[in-house]
Amino acid sequence: MPAPCVLVAEDDAAIRELLVHHLESAGFDVVATGDGMAALRIARERASLAVLDLGLPAIDGLEIARTLRRERCNVPIVMLTARTDEVDRVVGFELGADDYVCKPFSVRELVARVKAILHRGGRTVETRPSVLRFGRLEIDEAAREARIDGVDVGLKPREFALLLTLAGNAGIALSRTVLLERVWGFDYEGDERTVDVHIRRVRAKIEERGRLGSVVATVHGFGYKFVRV
Ligand code: CA
Repeated sequence: MPAPCVLVAEDDAAIRELLVHHLESAGFDVVATGDGMAALRIARERASLAVLDLGLPAIDGLEIARTLRRERCNVPIVMLTARTDEVDRVVGFELGADDYVCKPFSVRELVARVKAILHRGGRTVETRPSVLRFGRLEIDEAAREARIDGVDVGLKPREFALLLTLAGNAGIALSRTVLLERVWGFDYEGDERTVDVHIRRVRAKIEERGRLGSVVATVHGFGYKFVRV
């Protein structure tokens, strides 16, 4: 199982780097940004947990949390705040932050809280059932096979990983870049057409041969999303 992906959204580079260093040392896959819009995108697409600075330029941590919750994205959020008054704390919780840490904070404390939340909640990767069922389609993570009416459709490993990634985020559009990173890895040298080629093969096996109708929808100019069947 891959390490949980922790998003760090903090515009203070020194704090950001400190957090990245300690979270990586703790075994997490860390993505960091000082930009609120980028943070929102990463939180939607791939984060298992988001550490959000309250005071980010352009779109702040509260607005990011509010937007994510409005979109029914339940990624756990730890809010970093320099403001210690009660109002901000309460507002942060009302908006669905799972925890908060006031600056100045102990990095060890923050890492411990991140671990605790992922451990107890595990609302993303950890609790995903090993078999995803969508009507006649079953995607069996342990067996690495997709079945229609109980019959293996014969996906190749990358095709299976692609389908699993999409189905594990059903209803959420994933960009080609994100799919490349998740299925082929960050250091993969190929281009985004690779994703299209594999999507075609998955469709041929699931939709055409399995006569299931559309399972993977194209999101024009962006990528793909899994639609329930
Ligand atoms: Ca800040």
